[in-house]
Amino acid sequence: MKRVLFTDLDGTLLDLFDYSYEAAVPCLEALKKQGVPVVFCTAKTLAENEYYQRVLGVSDPFIVENGGAVFVPEGYFSFGFEADCKKRSGERGNYCVLELGASYAELRRALKEIREETGFKITGFGDLTAEEVAADANLSVEMARLAKAKQYNESFIFDEPEEKEAVLFAKIAEKGFGFTHGGRYYNIHGKKADKGRAVKILTDLFKKEYAAVGGGGVQTVGVGDSQNDISMLKAVEQPAVVRNKKGGWLEVSLPNLYKAEGEGTAGWVEVVKKFFEVT
Ligand SMILES: [Mg+2]
Repeated sequence: MKRVLFTDLDGTLLDLFDYSYEAAVPCLEALKKQGVPVVFCTAKTLAENEYYQRVLGVSDPFIVENGGAVFVPEGYFSFGFEADCKKRSGERGNYCVLELGASYAELRRALKEIREETGFKITGFGDLTAEEVAADANLSVEMARLAKAKQYNESFIFDEPEEKEAVLFAKIAEKGFGFTHGGRYYNIHGKKADKGRAVKILTDLFKKEYAAVGGGGVQTVGVGDSQNDISMLKAVEQPAVVRNKKGGWLEVSLPNLYKAEGEGTAGWVEVVKKFFEVT
């Protein structure tokens, strides 16, 4: 049985506020030694995923912008998926890309319309400079540039009382888009873009791969911390949540949900130790 780890980044593998991850590094090294794929499944962009793969020494496929697209490194799967994928998505640098989301331009247009129709104070990443995003998200200007390089999702600040949320969500749905509310920002994205759908696509690819190389089945573990992780948690066999900054857990009803005692990275380490042979 081959195990695959699907993991959220912000507030899960990475600290929600300072993006630290030191405690996770030994676990990631152990998973790598065991050949366990570590699939980032995050709101982050392609550029940010590439950055965190580099610093964390991970080189498996990843899911960007809340399921907007699946990026598979060239040559990763051996069962013939690549030729087929390239036929559909064309050459995309060193990746085969499966796009599920709407384009960034469409999403920006929808937000602009909602702002005009409701008068809500909505500020998208696209309305801010890299310096402004850096200050708001507690990022370096360099990391803010990577965060702004969005393709399938727009993150925005909703500067209105919470009771107006329902109107915002109804407007987004009316325009044919989906939304999530992660740890820090609201997000608008294509209706077909969700983490769960992307996880299922990748799980099928892993199953085909291991069947092709004569292995057994695939067992999936997923770990997250907030609302944008629910579809991912529902798509894996073993869902797990880490404690959030408020000291509680994401409210989701799943029969075998594992709740880690630790918050953020500490909880993530706990989940990896519990479900993988890592000490
Ligand atoms: Mg998160």
